[in-house]
Amino acid sequence: MRAAATTTLTFEGRFARDFEELAVPWRAEEAPDPQLLVLNERLAVELGLSPAGLRTPEGIRQLIGNLVPEGATPVAQAYAGHQFGGYSPILGDGRALLLGEVTDVHGRLRDVHLKGSGRTPFARAGDGLAVVGPMLREYLVSESMHAMGIPTTRSLAVVGTGRPVRRETMLPGAVLTRVAGSHLRVGSFQFARVNGDTDLLRRLADHAIGRHYPAAAKAAQPYVAFFDAVIAAQASLVARWMLVGFVHGVMNTDNMAISGETIDYGPCAFMDAFNPGAVYSSIDQGGRYAYANQPLIAEWNLTRLAEALLPLLHEDQEQAVALAVESLGAFRGEYSAAWLDGMKAKLGLGADAQNDVASPLAVDLLAMLEKGDVDYTSFFRSLSSAARGTTEDARAHFVDPGPFDAWVERWRALAPEAEVMDRTNPAYIPRNHLVEEALAAATAGDMGPFNRLVDVLADPYTDRPGLDRYAGPAPDDFGSYRTFCGT
Ligand code: AMP
Ligand code: MG
Repeated sequence: MRAAATTTLTFEGRFARDFEELAVPWRAEEAPDPQLLVLNERLAVELGLSPAGLRTPEGIRQLIGNLVPEGATPVAQAYAGHQFGGYSPILGDGRALLLGEVTDVHGRLRDVHLKGSGRTPFARAGDGLAVVGPMLREYLVSESMHAMGIPTTRSLAVVGTGRPVRRETMLPGAVLTRVAGSHLRVGSFQFARVNGDTDLLRRLADHAIGRHYPAAAKAAQPYVAFFDAVIAAQASLVARWMLVGFVHGVMNTDNMAISGETIDYGPCAFMDAFNPGAVYSSIDQGGRYAYANQPLIAEWNLTRLAEALLPLLHEDQEQAVALAVESLGAFRGEYSAAWLDGMKAKLGLGADAQNDVASPLAVDLLAMLEKGDVDYTSFFRSLSSAARGTTEDARAHFVDPGPFDAWVERWRALAPEAEVMDRTNPAYIPRNHLVEEALAAATAGDMGPFNRLVDVLADPYTDRPGLDRYAGPAPDDFGSYRTFCGT
């Protein structure tokens, strides 16, 4: 435990020092008029930082890398990646920087990272910048995921830069200060592999094991154990997304974190009506990253990770492939088990409920929700009342409640527990129409709706009076929702 909160960020610079091949020392662009739009005070305290200190002009300049503590080396990280299935050997942080690592009050090493901090050598045609709306969007959605207990990168602050940015129109610029277990991605390993540098690959894997999967170091085959641990973390993560109706939207291999945290909130969205084919991203025209495809895509990405890790798995390539295939074979079972455990909790059933009873019960329910265009989140929330004996609210979601009534009989026979459901099914999620409303107001200079929404989402499992408008689906005139990437 650190003794007292400090106003100065101190960074360990471990990645910059240990991975020169992957780290280009770089400086954030100077913001002409930095204004703090939102600060995550609880996260600041967790990092051992003083919120009051971060609110000073000096603190704000530190938050966006315009004031760099002595000895710190901000770097742009190199990585490769498959984007929509196509391979790019060099992507890297085009508009982002790793300021360095800090040790939080629990003794955990966390990355502090900037998004929207100006062009880097990886910027290609991009302007290196970010705008207020999408950065606040990442803040809102990542903090909501955290409040629901889903592993994710965190958001420490969003600072308006005072610099207009050209998009379809001119928009206010911003920098997001992001905190993560690490920014190692599947693409980081792909980068090390494509350059044929097995030493780098090994050091990278050792670093990842040290930070995220220390138990793997003690295994008989540490790199196989490491790969198994990443597979397990992703199986569990994607199951959590599916259970809350989250569509990441751009599951490229550079957007999949080795830590098992949700990372890179771009065109993501939560679905209202249950729809396996839900796609929100304007650039995902083939529906590659549709809701129901996410587990398959995670498995595909892990296969790309396996290819990158082969030289570490075994010196004989054939044996390395055999080991990778065996490890990958666990993904589907792990995913299904995590999903079914989560679904049991959503239905108020104990982990000891029979799988061959719970599984068809869940599948039949989802089919009814899909057929009836039923709002996923509010339906599950209303099901608690049904467990308590009042089916009205849940029934009201169906035009023809007949099949639902029959389903309720089967479900009630398993004695569902309403309290478990209340703790599992969120009442408040970042619904698209609420997010858009908050971001539009913020872009026009009014942070009120955003701050209120952040407060509501911070406590997703407690119904509070007066918050009805946050708990229901979009009004009919909201239309079909599209999200935009790279903004
Ligand atoms: P993303 O889809 O946001 O994960 O980004 C994919 C790649 O494009 C990464 O290498 C980003 O750093 C880069 N990139 C995205 N937007 C910009 C931008 N405005 N300027 C420079 N690079 C960008
Ligand atoms: Mg990315």
